[in-house]
Amino acid sequence: MSKSRAAILATPDFAWDPRTRPPTAGLRPYREQTYRLEPEVVGSKFVVHNYGHGGAGITLSWGCAHEVVDLVTARGVTANDGVAVLGAGVMGLTVATLLLARNLNVTVYATEFPPQTTSNKAGGQWAPSMVNHRDSAQFTRILRRAFHEHKARGAEFGVSARENYTLVRASNFESCPRDVIPPPTAFAHLPFAHLKSSGFGYATLLVEPPIFLAKMQDDLRAANVAFNPREFHELGEISELPEGIVVNCTGLGSKAICRDKLMHPIKGQLVLLPPQPKLQYLFAGHHGYLFPRRDCVVVGGSEEMDVTDPTPDMNICRAILANMKGVFTGGARMALQPGLVPSWAMRSK
Ligand SMILES: Cc1cc2nc3c(=O)[nH]c(=O)nc-3n(C[C@H](O)[C@H](O)[C@H](O)COP(=O)(O)OP(=O)(O)OC[C@H]3O[C@@H](n4cnc5c(N)ncnc54)[C@H](O)[C@@H]3O)c2cc1C
Repeated sequence: MSKSRAAILATPDFAWDPRTRPPTAGLRPYREQTYRLEPEVVGSKFVVHNYGHGGAGITLSWGCAHEVVDLVTARGVTANDGVAVLGAGVMGLTVATLLLARNLNVTVYATEFPPQTTSNKAGGQWAPSMVNHRDSAQFTRILRRAFHEHKARGAEFGVSARENYTLVRASNFESCPRDVIPPPTAFAHLPFAHLKSSGFGYATLLVEPPIFLAKMQDDLRAANVAFNPREFHELGEISELPEGIVVNCTGLGSKAICRDKLMHPIKGQLVLLPPQPKLQYLFAGHHGYLFPRRDCVVVGGSEEMDVTDPTPDMNICRAILANMKGVFTGGARMALQPGLVPSWAMRSK
């Protein structure tokens, strides 16, 4: 489908006071080759690993959780069997929710709980970004199940349908089945006052992590799921747990726990502008994105490979914001030239 003109959408207000709205940063749990979603027997325990989802953990969460449940039920369980879920990020909480729905006795163990997890730092667009897979059939199944489950949970879980306007065709959406993300609308002129470039509009979802994670944790607590603070240093320590089944959702923590050399942090930094309810679209430029949410307008998109310090860097945050402001106000030649990559867009240590 192609559109040459559409109603002009509101331009974001890029005024930012970092003293009242400090930036944030997090380390994406990126895994070379593929995320890890597989069973393993460790001593007397049946373990399912579910980690390494890079920049797409929110996106893939429900789909991966269904795969975990399939593996656990295929092994054979009866009601009230004990399951330990290691990790309280989006992977741990979605797995705990679906296992609880199977009448299993779930306990969550982790060092950090919402709102302190990496999952709480995510922007929240539904898009399979910065994630590898080896099994296309499984990946497609995960995408389908994840999208439909997010959509069905809706506003109470912070999920809403949004149009994402992009300057170029988005490779992450192109890898999705067409019944999930339909072919984009092509625009001769994107519908913004100063942004005269051509582009595309993709129908996707916004999943607001602060709402989504708090809702899941509240529901699990209300169902008497225990959240136990505990740090694991190596996988063998699960022999001390009373549960016979263990699901490992420790994200980047699995690099040490499983001695997994395929795991790498990819640091991402976010500027959080005040909420702007008039903005109901998502936007992705060549080197950054803008996601208006109920709590703030997220401007981000930086990628720093193997950077392990999660402290925000004010210079990079200012550059991310200046770049996005330039795209919308017509001053960012850098962002409009695909060949020019700013230092924060892809930097290796
Ligand atoms: C800036 C940024 C923006 C992002 N934007 C998006 C987006 O728009 N859409 C999207 O889909 N994804 C996005 N992501 C990616 C997403 O945040 C991650 O893929 C996701 O959070 C991974 O979830 P997780 O549950 O595996 O890990 P985490 O959220 O890190 O949770 C891991 C859990 O394991 C626990 N743990 C770790 N180590 C140990 C240990 N040794 N012992 C005990 N417990 C341990 C932690 O305490 C925590 O509870 C973004 C990430 C960043 C950083």
